[in-house]
Amino acid sequence: MTKVTGDMAERGVILASDAARSGETEPRKRTSNLAVPSVAVTASEAISLEKTPLTVFSGVGAKTADLLARLGLLTIADLLYHFPRRYEDRAKFASIAELQDGQTATVVGVVTGVENRVLRKQLTLTKVSLDDGSRRIASLTWFNQYRMKATFDALMGKRIVVYGAVKRAYAAVEFSQPEWEPLDDESAGGSVDSLSIGRIVPIYPSTEGVSQRLLRKIAHAALSTYAGAVPETLPEVLRENRNLTGIIASLWGIHFPETFTELEAARRRLAYEELLVLQLLLAERRQEAAGELGVAFSDVSSPLREFRDILPFSLTDAQNRVVSEIAADMAAPRPMNRLVQGDVGSGKTAVAMAAMAIAVRNGYQATLMAPTEILAEQHLRGVRNALEEMGIRVDLLTGSRPAKEKAAVRERVASGETGVVVGTHALIQDSVTFRRLGLAVIDEQHRFGVLQRAALTGKGGDVMPDVLVMTATPIPRTLTLTVYGDLDVSIIDQLPPGRKPIKTHWKKVADKESVYNGVRKLIQEGRQVFVVCPLVEESEKMQARAATELASHLAQHVFPEFAVGLLHGQLTSDGKDAAMHAFRVAETQILVATTVIEVGVDVPNAAVMVIEDADRFGLAQLHQLRGRVGRGAHASYCILIADPKTADGIARMRVMTETTDGFRIAEEDLRLRGPGEFFGVRQSGLPTLKAADVLRDVEILKEARDDAFLIIEQDSHLASRENRFLKSAVEKQRRAAQISTAG
Ligand code: ADP
Ligand code: MG
Repeated sequence: MTKVTGDMAERGVILASDAARSGETEPRKRTSNLAVPSVAVTASEAISLEKTPLTVFSGVGAKTADLLARLGLLTIADLLYHFPRRYEDRAKFASIAELQDGQTATVVGVVTGVENRVLRKQLTLTKVSLDDGSRRIASLTWFNQYRMKATFDALMGKRIVVYGAVKRAYAAVEFSQPEWEPLDDESAGGSVDSLSIGRIVPIYPSTEGVSQRLLRKIAHAALSTYAGAVPETLPEVLRENRNLTGIIASLWGIHFPETFTELEAARRRLAYEELLVLQLLLAERRQEAAGELGVAFSDVSSPLREFRDILPFSLTDAQNRVVSEIAADMAAPRPMNRLVQGDVGSGKTAVAMAAMAIAVRNGYQATLMAPTEILAEQHLRGVRNALEEMGIRVDLLTGSRPAKEKAAVRERVASGETGVVVGTHALIQDSVTFRRLGLAVIDEQHRFGVLQRAALTGKGGDVMPDVLVMTATPIPRTLTLTVYGDLDVSIIDQLPPGRKPIKTHWKKVADKESVYNGVRKLIQEGRQVFVVCPLVEESEKMQARAATELASHLAQHVFPEFAVGLLHGQLTSDGKDAAMHAFRVAETQILVATTVIEVGVDVPNAAVMVIEDADRFGLAQLHQLRGRVGRGAHASYCILIADPKTADGIARMRVMTETTDGFRIAEEDLRLRGPGEFFGVRQSGLPTLKAADVLRDVEILKEARDDAFLIIEQDSHLASRENRFLKSAVEKQRRAAQISTAG
């Protein structure tokens, strides 16, 4: 839906959602030239829109139905919720003569010429001339679209609508690969399709063989006939309080708005509903968790005092605040469900160790689950250093340790001899049982799904262990509320003292020599360097080979005077250990690595992070990689080597050089990639949002969240009559979430 706002902003339309009509329930009469059943269906009639196939429309046969199925459109319900991806204001069109370079515009005109030009072998340009009666002709151009010429030959003298970015140099106006559609409807005897012109026109997500015209027609027919049968999910009091349009008016408004104000009101209501359902799910989950029997740790202060004494540094104010929030949770009888957010390097591990110290000193066990073996092993070292000084036995359980060792660890965990066990997914296997699990810490949560969280906490036996989730990459607050809405949130918003800010430079591939020379100087001053090799998507094996080749190239040809280490995912567990160890004790000055070092790896003397072909990485990854340096007292650098080919790639390099603020980076990442692709969202079982935009709809989200928690407080099972449609919407969402996490 971001697209929509963009379009509206381009037209200078002011959005005034408050001014929108609300409470409208009567469908408006609209015209359509598709034959539809003449009697409209109302909510009181028992008709299941989820079971009514699209073939009920006379214009839709089996073949068309197959095509529509590719868009996920099987039923009337699917169609009603297939929202436009953008809108065109076709009440008035731009004039070709007045178009400006760089503008995005919609024009309508007559096709006056079509030609194919072979520019060179394998490169054919199709050029279509479009005349709108203004003083200029626009050229529409496509490369290697072999069927285009025949298509336009058939449209000679006919009107088409064109939408796209304008290229203008003096008199020449060009649309390169624009979106377009024919305007004159042949099948209807050349008459004008009233849904496609003279109004705000919806543009739907579509696929080959499915025209916009068809989608508009069936969407309109579905609304005319069946909108009345869509149940009103939102109780009236909510609609009144939040000034939300009724469902029928909203569906009309999102498909065929008469004004942009109406569109915004419709979208706002549909977004609210989506977010409300999601928040209800989270509110229920949270209430269930609160009802569980947890551990009330009776002594939190003396373990904390003891822990602070053995720590070689003192906690920052932010760490102290978060530790007290955790301690209060742990002292209470209900299970803790807390998320700790903090930028890379903010010292989340120390906070987790404080919690583990509390658990163990009160006679319970604690576990720390990390997403990779390297990280688990590093945590093991850190946790051992601190907690073994308190006499606590700390063990490691990862998949690749020898079977005998694993069996011994499992034994000690089951008997209670182990106080803290650090590990990977291996911890959630059935064969692992605890004598008395009181605390589960999950690091870098975005790599684990909700189900894995549950598998770990299920190991507490009769009691629900306290849960502490730590995220490495900060995420925007709105997303926190959507993905982790069932958790309490603590934020470590301060870095340990004495950190020098990391300087980030973006260099072209051609400047690699000078980058290497700069690196050489820093190594001579005693620093160490990470070099991250280009991302290879094909396979882990190929990735490992690329890293190996880069390492030997650097060792032989660039830095023969230094020792170069190598770390990648295909090494054995011992091999990884050895590489990390050699780097940590500075036996190697350069560590060539893949993204296995992305999370958590902590070597304070490493002051330079060189990332080759940096534009192949996502922002969250780049931020994590950069977070590997700047952990000691030395000035640190992150060098991005990249010649990005796409606008996105350039944007990512810019963001990285402009800021080190993880929250800002996360927001940019979300903006560039969209919430669907944003890390963790899929695994978290968050359903795809159709109307809501988690970045933009912060206010709606807050309203929906407040309302959801209030509703659950008053009617915890949504059993009342007025909540009955909300209940079925929540049930549906729950099933969808379960399917997506199981998959
Ligand atoms: P992250 O939040 O990225 O997991 P870590 O827990 O790995 O950060 O901590 C980063 C580094 O900062 C570690 O070397 C850790 O020992 C150190 N550290 C953590 N807290 C403090 C503090 N209060 N003062 C000094 N150093 C700290
Ligand atoms: Mg960490």
